[in-house]
Amino acid sequence: MVKAEGEAIAAGAEAEREETGAQPPRTLLPGATIGVLGGGQLGRMMALSGSAMGYRFVALDPAKDAPCGQVTPQITAAYNDRDAARELARRSDVITYEFENVDAGVAALLTEESYVPQGSALLYTTQHRLREKAAIEAAGVPVAPYRKVGSLAELEAAAADLGLPCVLKTATGGYDGKGQAVIRRPEELAAAFRQVAPGAQADVPELVLEKFITFKCEISVIAARSASGEVKSFPPAENIHVDNILHLSIVPARVPEEIQRRACELAERIVSGMKAVGLLAVEMFVTEDGELFVNELAPRPHNSGHYTMDACVTSQFEQHVRAICNLPLGDTKLLTPVVMVNVLGQHLDGAVQAACRANEEANRLGVSPKLHIYGKTESKTGRKMGHINLLCKDTGDGLSWVEQTNLWRN
Ligand code: AMP
Repeated sequence: MVKAEGEAIAAGAEAEREETGAQPPRTLLPGATIGVLGGGQLGRMMALSGSAMGYRFVALDPAKDAPCGQVTPQITAAYNDRDAARELARRSDVITYEFENVDAGVAALLTEESYVPQGSALLYTTQHRLREKAAIEAAGVPVAPYRKVGSLAELEAAAADLGLPCVLKTATGGYDGKGQAVIRRPEELAAAFRQVAPGAQADVPELVLEKFITFKCEISVIAARSASGEVKSFPPAENIHVDNILHLSIVPARVPEEIQRRACELAERIVSGMKAVGLLAVEMFVTEDGELFVNELAPRPHNSGHYTMDACVTSQFEQHVRAICNLPLGDTKLLTPVVMVNVLGQHLDGAVQAACRANEEANRLGVSPKLHIYGKTESKTGRKMGHINLLCKDTGDGLSWVEQTNLWRN
């Protein structure tokens, strides 16, 4: 490389660090310790995958017997406990997180006292729907038309502007469909406002009104960007939700290849535009005429990427480890069609039975069920306890297995 070119790249990297608050990239080889803020299933699967490569892990979680803590050393303390965060920093060479609502003070402390290649800018952006939408649009990627709303009068004006139906959402804190309401008729505006923004007029949270997108299906793409800027994405998953909880991910998604390619391009454009490091899950709506609108981002491994564990050359968890440790990213190729079915508390016994006993149905369909259980001590209705990746010749066979085992009927 000629000197001037090298200097230009260094200057670009410096400008990027100033813009995103990111620290200079470090390459961490196996043997290094990865600290994980959060000890749930995502941390556990990251630790299982990274341990296989020779990395060490330490997790911070308030629950004594957390899923990740069963497979790695754990610091048991509240997420916003500064002393515990300091200890995590002391014991780790690099820090990551497995959920996005990381306390801003803790994020700042960790970036000061340790190496957090994902930085805090990405969290700041994805913790707030309006900031997130602005970042997606800045990357040149479409989102559903939207307006910021702070009062009932503003909601009425925004609804008149966008046209109904619309979806009203809180800008922060909502997940899995909580903190939102679909509005189909003008007379529903006031009730939706009261539902999404309860409490006194003075402390109305920031809200977003979005145009309701009549979608053909929902898909997601998990993209990764390494600390030195390499970008790759996994094949899109078609996601089916029941009661706002992910039920199935179907891969390949049942949309034309051209749409799949465009979805990957958009996700890669966002992860590059945001100069994200690590994984970024990009959820999108696909309309009948093939338009794509990005709905939401998550800067971490994602439930809709669990299929990669058994069906891709590299899993999303290995990819995340590679990205934050600045290794070359792994091949994201799909090796086999797959259907991922989530296992909730009410499905746990049936799922374990179906996946562990001699399974004539699976043999007949040519489906290989790969069971993943997270080790949560308490099984509750609606709680994600595990998932099964159904490897198959055709996703229709995986779907038939789900249908015939009756898993999600009880
Ligand atoms: P969210 O919390 O934004 O992920 O939304 C939860 C679910 O609500 C999505 O998976 C969609 O099924 C639905 N939804 C959210 N926003 C819209 C929209 N603008 N148009 C149509 N459906 C939506």
